[in-house]
Amino acid sequence: MVTAYISLGSNMGDKEQALQHAVQLLQKNEYVNVTKVSSIYDTDPVGYEDQDVFLNIVIEVETTLSAQQLLVTCQEIEQQLKRVRIIRWGPRTIDLDILLYNHENIETETLIVPHPRMHERAFVLVPLMEIAKDAVLPTTERTVASYLEEVGHAGVRVFKEIDDVEGFIHS
Ligand code: ATP
Ligand code: MG
Ligand code: MG
Repeated sequence: MVTAYISLGSNMGDKEQALQHAVQLLQKNEYVNVTKVSSIYDTDPVGYEDQDVFLNIVIEVETTLSAQQLLVTCQEIEQQLKRVRIIRWGPRTIDLDILLYNHENIETETLIVPHPRMHERAFVLVPLMEIAKDAVLPTTERTVASYLEEVGHAGVRVFKEIDDVEGFIHS
């Protein structure tokens, strides 16, 4: 059993429902247990800025899936939620990115963990900090807190506090 962290984001359609639906589908998977959910954050777009604000969360899961299998599972959920996207870093109904998997450094054609841009993104670091403040990136052995100190909280606001996983899934 491995602990992993996944970042979820949506900026099209009913964003909160898309996040909730994606977490429900992960929880339904017999090899995945969603153990923590951050608050929902409302975040300014980064990269391609001419688009609607995002809602972002980070979740903790316990899983017996390999990192590659977890990626495929996340991609199936993106498909199932009919992810639509035209421009890179542009609007999308749902995005699931694997941030951390155990304390492993992974680099394959399809998967890089820790996620290569996580340490520069406030919309990832703020919610991750909330549920895993002592997490360490295996690439540098630096904590999430130390990256967040560098990056700051700009553009990231609490949209809704979440009490627990089951409450979120059934709300
Ligand atoms: P970004 O990765 O900058 O957040 P994005 O999430 O919009 O951009 P996607 O289109 O969702 O990018 O993913 C592009 C590819 O990234 C996927 O096909 C996947 O194989 C690859 N990938 C590499 N590492 C990861 C990871 N840690 N989590 C999810 N996808 C990853
Ligand atoms: Mg992404
Ligand atoms: Mg992605």
